[in-house]
Amino acid sequence: MINKNFKLIFFTYFIVFGIFVALFGSFVGFNMNLIDIQKNIEKASQEVGLIKKFDYLKPDVERFDEIVKALVSNPSLDGYLKNPISEKKESLTSVFYAIAMSNNFIMQARFIDAEGNEKIRVDRNSKYDKPFIVAESNLQGKSQRDYFQIVSHMNEQKIWHSRVDLNIENGKIEVPYKPTFRVAQPIFKENKFVGMVIVNLLAAEMINGLKKSTSFDHFIIDKDGYFILHPNDQYSWSRYTNSNIRLYDEFPAEAQKILAGENKGEAFYSFPLNDILDNEDKAILILKPKNTYKSTLLASNIKTSLIIIFLSIIISIPLAILASIAPSKLQQSLISVNKDLKRFSDIIDTYVLTVTTKTNSIITSVSSAFTKKYGYTKEELIGQKINVIRHPDTPNEVYSELWNTIESGNNWQGELKNIGKDGNTYYIEQNIIPIKDENGEIISYMAVGNDITAKKEVERLSEIDKLTGIYNRRKLDEYMDLESQRANRYHQPLSFIMLDIDHFKHINDTYGHLVGDITLQTLAKILVGNLRKGDIVGRYGGEEFLIICPETNRDSAILLAEKLRIAVEKYTFTEIKSMTISLGIAEFKENDTVKVLFERADKALYQAKHNGRNCVVG
Ligand code: GH3
Ligand code: MG
Ligand code: MG
Repeated sequence: MINKNFKLIFFTYFIVFGIFVALFGSFVGFNMNLIDIQKNIEKASQEVGLIKKFDYLKPDVERFDEIVKALVSNPSLDGYLKNPISEKKESLTSVFYAIAMSNNFIMQARFIDAEGNEKIRVDRNSKYDKPFIVAESNLQGKSQRDYFQIVSHMNEQKIWHSRVDLNIENGKIEVPYKPTFRVAQPIFKENKFVGMVIVNLLAAEMINGLKKSTSFDHFIIDKDGYFILHPNDQYSWSRYTNSNIRLYDEFPAEAQKILAGENKGEAFYSFPLNDILDNEDKAILILKPKNTYKSTLLASNIKTSLIIIFLSIIISIPLAILASIAPSKLQQSLISVNKDLKRFSDIIDTYVLTVTTKTNSIITSVSSAFTKKYGYTKEELIGQKINVIRHPDTPNEVYSELWNTIESGNNWQGELKNIGKDGNTYYIEQNIIPIKDENGEIISYMAVGNDITAKKEVERLSEIDKLTGIYNRRKLDEYMDLESQRANRYHQPLSFIMLDIDHFKHINDTYGHLVGDITLQTLAKILVGNLRKGDIVGRYGGEEFLIICPETNRDSAILLAEKLRIAVEKYTFTEIKSMTISLGIAEFKENDTVKVLFERADKALYQAKHNGRNCVVG
């Protein structure tokens, strides 16, 4: 169950990651494509612009130039200029007529003499009409016209181009608009200006031919920013119509750049046309990518990105499933390891007495077992010094040895007697471990303890006489061995005092066993109360007691025995009122065995009984 959940979690992680990568990748791809789109648009604009300029405009203008050149250089003109008789004029007129006839975009073809007078003029009303020769009486003087002024002062080979403007008829713009382009060339005879040929051409096709494109809007402006051509026809020819729309209205942010001759901007690509038109307009062709063109490219870009996202997600699903197997297994085993660890640490916390202190012995952590044992809460212990649990009976030497050991970086092991909050004594088998940092500096101490109070109690009970609470025979045997060995080794005096209640049988018989028992207990108390520090007293059996007196010679033992005898003799017992004891003393002699020494004491006691009881023999 858990395993399944992990798989799901890891699967989700990987899928989310996959989606993120897909989105990021597509985002980057999308933006790179945007740059590509921009580049593609620019490339397309270059193609379109140059085609329009060189494949459409240039051949048209060149054709116009060729027509004028043909008229200027035709032999009839030369013949007429040499001899301007009417016959020659007719011949020249028919050349003008023939050329106008064969080119329906010629609206007017004229020869003007050096004085500015029209000499030959062929006109056409519309491109659908045939041309006609204007009668001599209708020919006009044009010497004041600017084109005459300019052309009459030009070099022989130069060709003059007018602005591309609208035809004016009777002082008014002719409607529908007739875009007009005039081309003229001066004529020289022996380096003398003798006249000019000027042809008016219908420029509508030349201009409109530039217009067609699905991708770009086309604009042609003149040097002042007026539109010669605008995708919205009503704004074309703005210099001449009342619309007055100018470049700034269409390209507010970039008009300046365009007029300054920059060839591209955010939303335009421009191509100067003056190298071809070579006129006052200083015209510039501007291509502006159509919104539909851009959005088509953008849509295909979005489509590509969506396909990439879709494919990435599709691919990342099986990958995520595969990739989630190993980590989910790992996670699973980590969890179970963690659980085991937690169980173990819970067991330790519950059953093992652990306490950690800083080097200054301030408690930083304790196990639950520890707090339970000593009756404190964790809050009460943490922050306290460890010696709150130190038993007052424990000698200082024990602690100084302990601290010396752990402060020098070694483990300390041993039994400690501690005290709980309620004052109870506890025995702990303690292991104290110095915890070091990576530099080997001790940073804390950890004490791991095992409570041995119960064991100690069993031990204590095994050496204590149940009835009287003093040592039993087993313990006395141990002490007799120990002290006789010590006396032998260190040549110290040692004495045994054996004592026996006088006529105890009688007490038992008279007052009963219970009183007998109480009497034994009372006697034990009297003995303990009259002994010196270091004397060891125990019940050897029945109503016989043994006192081991280390570092005590016979005389001192006799004094002590006498003191005890008197103490008992003088004591007033509750039931029996009075009682006496007999005592036998034996002093240790070199190489005595315990058995020999004990038998001597027993013999002395026997002698005391024999001597009439209530006395000391030694
Ligand atoms: P003596 O002066 O010769 O020592 O006379 P006695 O009566 O004391 O004689 P003995 O020492 O032989 O008697 C020991 C008696 O002590 C026997 C036994 O009934 C009694 N006794 C031994 N152990 C106990 C005990 O634990 N409780 C009681 N009430 N009596 C005990
Ligand atoms: Mg006895
Ligand atoms: Mg007795």
